[in-house]
Amino acid sequence: MAQNRKKAGTRLTGRIVLPGNPSYNAARMEFNRRFSKFPRVIVFCRRTQDVINAVKWARERGVRLRARSGRHSYEGFSAVNGGVIIDVSEMNKAKVNRKNMVAHIQTGNPLARVYRKLWNKRVTLPAGTAPDVGIAGLTLGGGIGLLSRKYGLTCDNLKQVKMVVTSGRYGAKTIVANKKKHADLLWASRGGGGGNFGIATAYTFRVRPISTVSIYSITWKWRDLGKVFPAWQRWAPSVTNRLTSTIEVAAKQVGTIVSTGQLLGGAEELLRLIRPLLQVGTPVKVMVRTVPFIEATNFFAAADLNLEPKFKITGAYGFKPLPRKGVRMIRDFLSKAPNRHATVWCQSLGGAGSAVSRVSPTATAYPHRKAETIYELSARWRNDGEQQRNIQWVKRFRKALRPFVIGDYVNFPDLQIKNWPKAYYGVNIARLKRVKRKYDPHNVFRFAQSIPVGSR
Ligand SMILES: Cc1cc2nc3c(=O)[nH]c(=O)nc-3n(C[C@H](O)[C@H](O)[C@H](O)COP(=O)(O)OP(=O)(O)OC[C@H]3O[C@@H](n4cnc5c(N)ncnc54)[C@H](O)[C@@H]3O)c2cc1C
Repeated sequence: MAQNRKKAGTRLTGRIVLPGNPSYNAARMEFNRRFSKFPRVIVFCRRTQDVINAVKWARERGVRLRARSGRHSYEGFSAVNGGVIIDVSEMNKAKVNRKNMVAHIQTGNPLARVYRKLWNKRVTLPAGTAPDVGIAGLTLGGGIGLLSRKYGLTCDNLKQVKMVVTSGRYGAKTIVANKKKHADLLWASRGGGGGNFGIATAYTFRVRPISTVSIYSITWKWRDLGKVFPAWQRWAPSVTNRLTSTIEVAAKQVGTIVSTGQLLGGAEELLRLIRPLLQVGTPVKVMVRTVPFIEATNFFAAADLNLEPKFKITGAYGFKPLPRKGVRMIRDFLSKAPNRHATVWCQSLGGAGSAVSRVSPTATAYPHRKAETIYELSARWRNDGEQQRNIQWVKRFRKALRPFVIGDYVNFPDLQIKNWPKAYYGVNIARLKRVKRKYDPHNVFRFAQSIPVGSR
């Protein structure tokens, strides 16, 4: 349906939702309910031309725009007050070419749908755990998950991206970036972060054969924290790269520590591999089993369901295990957590033959290649009255851990990080700015932490 007719100029096309429309409220909301922004219009694009028209429409009128797919930005970057949200979630086709082992995936697909479509052909892609996270934002920022150590980040498997970028003073056009054409944009799309250069409409990924995997979960009581956390940190990067694992320490009120992981291999081997963990402290619950891969994705997705609706999260990387003082810091902060929903979560990324670490920090825009572990410090709540306390807790916690950890993952953005370009992009920021200047010289794709067009 075409709306917003102006005398001259581009018209919006696609499914258009305006304030006053019964679906406006649902259409404007982010996954993180801490944000409640009121866009002037939301365009649900159905084809690339709808995206082009929306970018042109916004540029011709000087209206701010945001790209949106899965709405999972931690800091609400895919919403905007008074601007246009260009939403690709209804562009959600996916096609597998098993002969060439590639998949063509439109950027509106959430992860659960990607896994399901690929599973139908018994192939997969290393990607994240939450079912509703969009493949769009996940890939552009990196993409970590339970196959990372074997198959790398999601963006490492990205061969081609189709993107709507600006053209001239008011225009927009589609370009295709791959190894041969616009290779600089492909490089930037592998970790440079969402919303910076244009609006991605389709990805081509390398895919891998998959059938069954083995998964584990071990639960300890909080009293074992001082032993279990250091043991996991030593163990996780040292095991075969076919095993990627996590550990999550809950607030003291909950009083649990849970480690989970996935092995490309059988249950017997997995049981043998996790023995060093089982020998630490007193595990109170242990699960090991072999399942079809698609069931494993459901198992890991469950951890991301039914969470409190508002949250503040920050991330960081560990290049070596936390010293005892750092583990004490975790104990102290989680002892005084604002509520029972606060946690510290880590996933193994590096170590023994890891596909993430084998790539050079400058080969893609994602620079944190040599990190052993990624951390996520999170606070969640329901009522606005709790907000400040939770945000302050995350801020203080980040500061306290700073001597022991480095940087942050651009997909775990945090508005409180002052030097965020360095934290997210490290050595790659200068090159990213050059790509930004080339593809978005008028800084149309901008938000609080977008890559600046500046000269350096
Ligand atoms: C519950 C939860 C679980 C998560 N689990 C994981 C995980 O397992 N692994 C992991 O790596 N990360 C994980 N993340 C982080 C996730 O990768 C980021 O939040 C990611 O940016 C989400 O992408 P999206 O498309 O869902 O979000 P959106 O909010 O739609 O977009 C995120 C950013 O990308 C931009 N963007 C969106 N669509 C496009 C497009 N088509 N073209 C260009 N830019 C676009 C937006 O403008 C915004 O800046 C998780 C997040 C949450 C909330």
